[in-house]
Amino acid sequence: MSTDHGPGWTLNDWPFLEPEHHALAERVKAFNARPGQDYPDLASECRAIARDLGDAGLLDYAVPPADRPVMDVRSICVIREGLSYHHILADAVFGMQGIGTGPIQLFGTEGQKAKYLAPCREGRHVAAFALTEPDSGSDVAAMTTSARADGNGFVIEGEKVWISNAGFADHYVVVARTGEAPGSRGLSAFIVDADTPGLKIGPAIDIMAPHPAANVTFDACRVPGDALVGPPGQGFKVAMAIFDVFRGSVGAAATGVARRALDETVRRVGQRRLFGDRMGKLQGVQMTLADMAADTDVAALVTYRAAWTKDTKGGRGSYEASLAKLVATEAVGRVVDNAVQLFGALGVTQGSVIEKLYREARPMRIYEGASEVQKLVIARDLMGRLDG
Ligand SMILES: Cc1cc2nc3c(=O)[nH]c(=O)nc-3n(C[C@H](O)[C@H](O)[C@H](O)COP(=O)(O)OP(=O)(O)OC[C@H]3O[C@@H](n4cnc5c(N)ncnc54)[C@H](O)[C@@H]3O)c2cc1C
Repeated sequence: MSTDHGPGWTLNDWPFLEPEHHALAERVKAFNARPGQDYPDLASECRAIARDLGDAGLLDYAVPPADRPVMDVRSICVIREGLSYHHILADAVFGMQGIGTGPIQLFGTEGQKAKYLAPCREGRHVAAFALTEPDSGSDVAAMTTSARADGNGFVIEGEKVWISNAGFADHYVVVARTGEAPGSRGLSAFIVDADTPGLKIGPAIDIMAPHPAANVTFDACRVPGDALVGPPGQGFKVAMAIFDVFRGSVGAAATGVARRALDETVRRVGQRRLFGDRMGKLQGVQMTLADMAADTDVAALVTYRAAWTKDTKGGRGSYEASLAKLVATEAVGRVVDNAVQLFGALGVTQGSVIEKLYREARPMRIYEGASEVQKLVIARDLMGRLDG
């Protein structure tokens, strides 16, 4: 699939952003303008995108170099908004490089960092993160994949499902039960190289948006002791720390898709003639356009508020990140639905830009924590404030 240029993305001049974020937006625009190419399958396209993102230096923001060890969440959001406006798969590749290396960046040993980070930053290697299981999606504590200490290593047994990049990733960060305590306090994170014996990949899963995913089985999969990332029993903490950074940035991907749908719709109703005049002259249509604009701006504002909070105030920022993901992904759902309606039959015709955006928006309300899970995080934070 080739890069889709469309009307052109512009980053808003929000007060949350610094001049360097606007300079970065120009680099994203230059990346989006690269010539499109056709690929035989999603895996080769994703690998090519990873290399292109690495060559353009954009993966430096998902996998920061040693002299800039902190992930700047506003930069991540600027990149994700700009990429998703044009090409959702590029956003997925960028996001997964960050999520699949984040545990190593934040909790890894110097040896793990030296081995895994540079190839992923350069886009030569692709990363994956494996948390979800057949009976443990929203309920992470129900996880059953186990990692049993054995000699100087661990043996992993179990199944992970809907794992992005599965089948062509070079390494997987896998969360498994090590049993130090019940529930979420008995999990640990491990790095499993793709060629480890016992790691098996299922058939590709066809997701409604272009997104590579498959199930991964661990069948007596032995990893060395130094595959452990972070302290034993802290796997849940490792996963949540990554979500604190990347969850809010799903809001940026949602904002990019919403902006594109709004721009395409404004163009359409400005050209399409209905009842003797331009369609956009109808007040009913203007009401819908205003709703779409409001949803798009709200999505952007909560997203960049969350990113700014994480970058400048320190702390986990889970409340803001969950609120951004919830509000922005629900908003983009309404925006693309309105866009389909205003495009009429063209909006539901396979291959049309609005049909594509409609499919791209829907999974955002499910992955990295469904909307209901974000509501739980938000409500728990509010209740925690009550308790002092
Ligand atoms: C495109 C895509 C990519 C993905 N990539 C990865 C990946 O790389 N790695 C990985 O580990 N996982 C990945 N996932 C899996 C994803 O994280 C899970 O789908 C998600 O956590 C939800 O889990 P589930 O699908 O099992 O839904 P379930 O947990 O079965 O939940 C079903 C629904 O129940 C509702 N719900 C949940 N909790 C509550 C509640 N407390 N109260 C009321 N309702 C509730 C929600 O609407 C939810 O959608 C991916 C999924 C998708 C769609």
